[in-house]
Amino acid sequence: MSTTTQSFRPGLEQIAAYRAGKPAPVGPSGRSIKLSSNENPYPPLPAVVAHLAEVLPHAISRYPSIAAEELTAALAQRFDVATENLALGAGSVEVAAQLIHAMTAPGDEVMFAWRSFEAYPILVRVAGAVPVEVALDADSRHDLQAMADAVTDRTRLIFVCNPNNPTGTVVSEAELEAFMARVPSNVLVVVDEAYVHFDRNSDSPSGIDFFRRYSNVAVLHTFSKAYGLAGLRVGYAIAPVPVAEALRKVSVPFAVSRLAQDAAVASLAAEGELQLRIDEMVTERDRLTAGLRATGLPVVPSQANFVWLPLGEASAAMGAAFEAQGISVRTFAGEGVRVSIGDPEENDAVVAAVIAAANRV
Ligand SMILES: *Cc1c(COP(=O)(O)O)cnc(C)c1O
Repeated sequence: MSTTTQSFRPGLEQIAAYRAGKPAPVGPSGRSIKLSSNENPYPPLPAVVAHLAEVLPHAISRYPSIAAEELTAALAQRFDVATENLALGAGSVEVAAQLIHAMTAPGDEVMFAWRSFEAYPILVRVAGAVPVEVALDADSRHDLQAMADAVTDRTRLIFVCNPNNPTGTVVSEAELEAFMARVPSNVLVVVDEAYVHFDRNSDSPSGIDFFRRYSNVAVLHTFSKAYGLAGLRVGYAIAPVPVAEALRKVSVPFAVSRLAQDAAVASLAAEGELQLRIDEMVTERDRLTAGLRATGLPVVPSQANFVWLPLGEASAAMGAAFEAQGISVRTFAGEGVRVSIGDPEENDAVVAAVIAAANRV
């Protein structure tokens, strides 16, 4: 074993590595079901695969375009924003990192609800900023009043994850409006809409609508979840021009590959087809929620492509019970279990696993 002689940045040892969703173990039937990363259960659209096959020979030996002209233009048109309002990254998690790097100096505060997306505290610490976690309320929802109360003169950035990962809850338009009225305009509010396509709540806010009305709102979107491109890594921010400019400045050059750019463009052109799949996942989410509730489990109403089981101390045992059936889920010991929506057969297996676990005790 070699001894490390290099000196690392102070504080680095306190930063936990991001814990990715586990691959699925093999269950008793020989089956493995991965429901731990909120991925899309469908294969990519044939039109997207065909397009990628066509560009593949040209996409590997050359660097991609940093400006990603085609994708940027397609997004600007899709959302009726200026190309100057857009900043891309290798997944919206990279864009979240860009936001933190662009807006904070060491010691500045970045606020978010907790529990929320696990990458937030890691990205904030890596940037040398200070994470400020504000507890969700008793219904696993953002407590926007408590978040507004927690703003200090060091606050630079606030993430509002809507729908929230891992609880699937949403804030209402009126709540976000009241929140914006209390947040100083020099603090950037980032509405992380990774799961917005699955939200069927009629009084949910549109992040882009808030972006249009407030000079201190940015929106994060990703192609990883609803569009099923998690493996290609592409996401973006829609942000005020000076913010988007700053994001491009701190971005890693060439992070978004040509394949990712082209797949995103092809996906935007196939939104109608993708919408059918999204609708199907929403139907499955509601069916899974009902099925799990029928077993007696508590299920938080979800507007995302996963459900949250707030099981408290029973979470680890339930997580293990799923694993025993070849189903990987995301277990937060002492808090809850997050189960991604799979295809109908996979969702049936989730309910069957709960019933099997109940019969064993
Ligand atoms: C999955 C997710 C993202 C982004 O994922 P990328 O694959 O990096 O685009 C961003 N925010 C939340 C809350 C997520 O769950």
